[in-house]
Amino acid sequence: MKLSEQFQVLRRAARYTFSVNRKYTILLIMSAFLSSIVGYVPIYFSAKVIDSLIAKAPVETVILYVALTVGIVFAVNLTNTYISSEKSAASSAMWRNEDWSYSEKAMQMAYGSIEDPEVTRLRYRIRRESQTGHNLYYLYQHIEQFAGQVTKITASTALTVSFFALPSVPVCFKLAIVAGLAITLMFQLYATKKTNALDRDFMALSVDMNIIAEHFLSYIEHYGAGKDIRLYDMGKFVGGSYLALDQDYWERGLKNSYIKAAWALPVAMLNTVLKFGIYAVLICAALQGGITTGSIARYVACIMMLAENLLSAAKTIQSAFDNNHYLKRYFSYFDIPNNMYQGSLTVEKRDDVEYYVEFRNVSFRYPNTDSYALRNIDLRFRIGEKLAIVGMNGSGKTTFIKLLCRLYDPTEGEILLNGVNIQKYDYDEYMSIFSVVFQDFSLFAFQLGEIVASSRSFDEDRVRSCLIKANFGSRLDEMPEGVHTYLYKGYDRSGMEISGGEAQKIALARALYKDSPFILLDEPTAALDPVSEYEVYSDFNTISGDKTTVYISHRLASCRFCDQIVVFDNGHIVQHGSHGELLCDGCGKYSELWHAQAQYYTVDG
Ligand code: ADP
Repeated sequence: MKLSEQFQVLRRAARYTFSVNRKYTILLIMSAFLSSIVGYVPIYFSAKVIDSLIAKAPVETVILYVALTVGIVFAVNLTNTYISSEKSAASSAMWRNEDWSYSEKAMQMAYGSIEDPEVTRLRYRIRRESQTGHNLYYLYQHIEQFAGQVTKITASTALTVSFFALPSVPVCFKLAIVAGLAITLMFQLYATKKTNALDRDFMALSVDMNIIAEHFLSYIEHYGAGKDIRLYDMGKFVGGSYLALDQDYWERGLKNSYIKAAWALPVAMLNTVLKFGIYAVLICAALQGGITTGSIARYVACIMMLAENLLSAAKTIQSAFDNNHYLKRYFSYFDIPNNMYQGSLTVEKRDDVEYYVEFRNVSFRYPNTDSYALRNIDLRFRIGEKLAIVGMNGSGKTTFIKLLCRLYDPTEGEILLNGVNIQKYDYDEYMSIFSVVFQDFSLFAFQLGEIVASSRSFDEDRVRSCLIKANFGSRLDEMPEGVHTYLYKGYDRSGMEISGGEAQKIALARALYKDSPFILLDEPTAALDPVSEYEVYSDFNTISGDKTTVYISHRLASCRFCDQIVVFDNGHIVQHGSHGELLCDGCGKYSELWHAQAQYYTVDG
């Protein structure tokens, strides 16, 4: 990273620390200042006491110096104890916010970013780096360390500067100290740079390895995979892969530690030589009689402290520069823009419910892909209509739904609601007109009522009625706590486990509870048994009432009652019409799909 960029990141980090928790940053600096300065009080006054005793000064003077030492140290320590308690309260608030900030950012992101594997990897990586202390923890640590080191360097310099001005100490002694300091400093900087670069490479590697290792562990440990692991004796395969990876990681880590130790050794030796040299120079100067007895102790302590803190400050700066590589990545996650157009129009509430939706020459490509998932889609449907979308896997059906409910914006063309581009509507308002059940829906481990209502508070009767409509009634009757039963074991150990089909019914009930004018169902019965599937289809018109329904299904028999059927193939709409009209075209895709399935179902075409 270039120096100018280093300073850019540092400036941003400084602004960030002040904006996120100004109080914590100020307390941190104050506490570092006070803990550092307190050590110099006895050094300064001890020299005064010794010189006063040697000069046979009045005893009151000596008592005054002693009283000042004790009093100042006491006052500083007392203040620092108070600041430390304030600091720790401010710190826990700050770390709580930090934890939340990842989730908050995820919620603000466009869905496309959430689905983007690069973004997932970036979030995983910065979280992992933060857990190992990088990013904010080190940033605050560096601020605290640097504040302490600058205080000590300033105090040591103030108490040492007279040494360099002493005419009785030969210039070569003074130069020897400065040269020794400079050489040690430079070597230490070089060594730290090398080892930090080594750590960074290892960290990047460990993120990749950890992602894979955690996958292996989750296969082994997750009860859902337990059957496959046992039946196919996958334990050796998955476990062996994990152990091999872990061994590789451990060996690389060990090698890394050896290399770092090899750099640390000469640094430690050079530091020792420097300290020894400083002692030697000061003793020689004292022997030549150029320094008072009290000052010898002061100069020895202060020059040592100066050397030590110059070295540590250099190390802190180097570490801060190193942390900047991590911070740059950290900020890049929080900088990911939400490029979805943010409209502000309210969705018109029409008494005549005369809404219509139109796809006008819509094409769409997923981010970072070359091929179009949808191409030149032209389609118009009115509220109250039942629209079925059929087609082979990968033909673009789910993508069509994703565009309709604005999880993505079209790459080309536009989607209109009552003649207005849907991008112009306020996003939340627009979303409120859709109830969607995706194939890969998620139900969280909350109370059944909370899940159906998507809220902490819910109308119990309405929840029950939606569950009954979705054919979950008999199962609900068996649940000891009714709509207050917890699902799964995540939140409550006595939570209910449910089958895939039951989960799908609950997802359907959730869509019904939302009571939006549009219901979008992506394979809503895929996990249901044939009886439940039949029940859902036969009751479907009652369930959906006068709502507009867009309905994706592989089972064509279930679509024939819809007003319009749209056939997707390879991202294009290849046919469009009612069941009867589509079947008339004996060479069409619909007829092909219908007859392929008719072999397995006794259907009346
Ligand atoms: P269908 O619902 O008809 O099975 P989809 O709409 O899910 O089909 O997918 C249409 C095409 O888009 C497929 O080629 C699929 O691989 C691709 N696709 C789906 N989701 C993504 C995604 N998140 N990123 C990249 N490509 C995707």
